[in-house]
Amino acid sequence: MKPPAIVILGEASISVAHQIQTALPEALVYGLADRVQSKVITYENFGETVRELFQAGMPIIGVCAAGILIRTIAPLLTNKWQEPPVLAIAEDGSAVVPLLGGLQGVNDLARQLAAVLHVAPAITTTGDIRFRTTLLSPPPAYTLVNPDDAKTFIADLLAGVTVKLIGEAPWLENSRLPFAEAGKLTIQILPKSQSEPTSTLSKDCLVYEFNSDLIEPNRGKLAIVGTGPGSAEWMSPEVKEILESATDWVGYKTYLDLAEPLRKTQTIRHESDNRVELDRARFALDLAAQNRTVAIVSSGDPGIYAMAAAVFEVLEREAKSEWQALEIQVCPGISAMQAAAAQVGAPLGHDFCAISLSDILKPWDVIAQRIAAAAQADFAIAFYNPVSKQRTWQLEKAKAILLQWRSPETPVVLACNLGRPGQTVTVKSLDQLAIEDADMRTVILIGSSKTRMIQQRQGKQWVYTPRSY
Ligand code: SAH
Repeated sequence: MKPPAIVILGEASISVAHQIQTALPEALVYGLADRVQSKVITYENFGETVRELFQAGMPIIGVCAAGILIRTIAPLLTNKWQEPPVLAIAEDGSAVVPLLGGLQGVNDLARQLAAVLHVAPAITTTGDIRFRTTLLSPPPAYTLVNPDDAKTFIADLLAGVTVKLIGEAPWLENSRLPFAEAGKLTIQILPKSQSEPTSTLSKDCLVYEFNSDLIEPNRGKLAIVGTGPGSAEWMSPEVKEILESATDWVGYKTYLDLAEPLRKTQTIRHESDNRVELDRARFALDLAAQNRTVAIVSSGDPGIYAMAAAVFEVLEREAKSEWQALEIQVCPGISAMQAAAAQVGAPLGHDFCAISLSDILKPWDVIAQRIAAAAQADFAIAFYNPVSKQRTWQLEKAKAILLQWRSPETPVVLACNLGRPGQTVTVKSLDQLAIEDADMRTVILIGSSKTRMIQQRQGKQWVYTPRSY
C-alpha cells in the first residue's frame, strides 16, 4: 500500500491525525495552509489536493465530514478496481467511516484506525461483516488470480453455500467463512512458483497465489521499562535510551510525567488509569504488533508489582498470533525498597522478602498468612502498597501480626516519595508504627530480629541488618 494521506482542515484535528499515525507511522499529514499551525505538508485547495491524491492511488483519510469527501471525489469514481481506500474520520475521532476502496482493504484500515481511536468502525459491507474477511483484498503476500469470478462466488457464499480450502492461508482460517470438507465452492492457495492451479478456474473456485517473499517481517518491539523511584539519577542508561528511541510510551499518567523530560516531540504518550494493568498490557502488545517501538513504563522495577508480569499474563492467556514474533525486553529499575534501604544504610543486608498489602489482586487471608510466615522465618520485610485511600486497615492488622513474633523495638523505615519532590524517610520502632505514617507513595521496611540502629558519633543514624550471625 502507498503511504496514506491524512487530510485535515484545521488545527483542532491535529491530535486525531497523530493518533492515526500511531497505527500508520508512514502516513503523511496534509493541512490547510493558514488553518493548521503544526508542522505538516500544507495545501491551498482541498478539492484539488484530494483529487490529486486519489488519482495518484494514495489511501486518503479525511478528518472531515464524509459528505465533503464524497462530493470531492464523486467525479472520479469510474473503476472500483482502481480506487484507493478513502475514509472519513470525525474531527474528534468518534467515528471511522470507510467510504471507498473495499477491494483495496478499506475495511481493514478502518478497523485498524478504529482500534487506536477506541471506537467501532462503521463497516457496512455485507461480506465483510458476515465473514470477517475480504476475499477481494487479501493480505499483501496473496494475489487473487481470478477477480472476475469473485462477484458470483461471494454472492453464493452470502446465499449459504459452503466452501473448502485447499492450501494454507491463516487470514482465511481465522475468518468466519462457512468452511466445510465437502464444500461446493473452493478456495485454492498456490505458491507463486507453482503456476498451474489443480482445480480449473471457475466461478466456483477462487485461486490465490502466495508469494512468501512478500511476508513482512514483524519489526514490532515492546520494552517493559522501570524508571526507578523518581529522579533521573536513579534511572538506568538503558532505560533512558529506550525511552528516547521509542515511538510510543504507554503507562500510568504519573509515571509518564516523571519521564516527560526525556520524551522526543514525535513520541506519542498513551496515558492510562493505574488500575487497568491487563488492558494496558494488551494495548501495548497490539501497538507493538503494528510495528511500533513501544515502551511500557513502570516506576521502580517493572518486574516488581508492575507491568512486566501483566504483559506476560496477557501474552500467555490471549496468545494472539500477531504477538508471537514481537521482540520483548524487560529493562530493570531500582525498586522502592532498594532506594529506601539506601537512604538509611542496609536494612535489607541479609535475607528479606517483599509483600504487597494490597488485597485488590489477592485475598487478605493469603497476605496475613504470608506476613506471619515471613515474621516467623525472621525475614526483614518490605511492605509495598501499605495504605491507599480505599484501603486503610491492612497496615494496622499487619502490625498486629508482626508483633506476635517480633519485638516492639524492631526498627521500621518509612520512606515516602523517594527520589521525588517531598521525599521523607523516617525510622521508628515497630510499636510506634501508625496508619498516618504511610500512604500509597510509601514503602515500609520492617527489620528482622537482627536489624540494628546505630549512630555515627558526629553524624547520621543508620539501620542495618548484619550478614553474619
Ligand atoms: N514497581 C514499583 C512498585 C510498584 S507498587 C517498584 O519497584 O518500586 C507501588 C508501591 O511501590 C507504592 O504503593 C509504594 O509502596 C512503592 N513505591 C513506588 N514508588 C515509590 C517511591 N518513589 N517512594 C516510596 N514508595 C514507592
